[in-house]
Formats: sequence, C-alpha cells, structure tokens
Amino acid sequence: MISGKRYHTGFISVYDFINHIYILCPKCSNRAEVLSDANDRVHTRMTCIHCGMNQQWMTDEEPKAILVGKPIDCYFRYPVWLQCVVGEEILFAYNYKHLTFLEQFITARLRERSKDQYGWHNNSLQSRLPAWMLSAKNRIRLLKAIDKLKKK
Ligand SMILES: [Zn+2]
Repeated sequence: MISGKRYHTGFISVYDFINHIYILCPKCSNRAEVLSDANDRVHTRMTCIHCGMNQQWMTDEEPKAILVGKPIDCYFRYPVWLQCVVGEEILFAYNYKHLTFLEQFITARLRERSKDQYGWHNNSLQSRLPAWMLSAKNRIRLLKAIDKLKKK
C-alpha cells in the first residue's frame, strides 16, 4: 500500500464477485453454482446441474447475514469450489473472474510500483487481502496455485 494516498479509479470490491459463486455440491461433490442478485438477495439460489440439487437462500425466516472472506459461499456457506492449500493458508476464489483478479494483482506486485498504474483504492479488495497473500515470498507459490485452480 501507498500510505495515505487515495485513488478513485479501478475500484474493486469483494462484493463484485459474490453474485456468482462456484461451490462444492453438498450432495454429489461436483461443481455447483450459487447465483445472487446484488439488488435483490431474495433471489439467491444454489443449483447443481449434476444431481439436480436446488436451494433457495431466503425463506420466511429472519434475514440471514452475508459472510465474506472465508472459503465458503457467502449465503449457504458451502465450501467454495476454487480453493487450495498454499503453505499453511487457504487460497480461494468465488469464481474465475475473482481468480483472475487475484492473479493480476499478484503479478502486478511482482513488478515494481506497478500498482500505481492500476490506481487501486485504499478500501479496495487489495487492501483487504491477507498479509500472506501480499508477501513476496509466497508470490510464486500463489501464482502456481492459481494456475492450477483455473483449470479446475
Ligand atoms: Zn450435486
């Protein structure tokens, strides 16, 4: 981070990635999907084309909280499909776009000072990435793991 500076272009938040999440189907362990609508979370639904499992997130019960930042989907809390262990940590992405974002970010960090050109905001996703993901010593391992996940 460049301390104290604020940028207003290229603002990316983790919330940009949570409307389409790939999960591990709790019933058949294949890849399933959770689709949501940022403007109407009532329409959040998980579907599995492999076993036909289908769930609506909101019911008549009290509203549920959206959970971000863990390797589970934000709604049903099923394990995300795109995750793998890197060292002692878990690298995960909600979807392939999110994975590409992480890859681009880590690649950019390999280049000196290149974050300026992207103009990431202090409050953007990058400042919320855990320290181990930002650590130089993990970059190569992370990029390898991302590459593996992209083919999953
Ligand atoms: Zn299934």
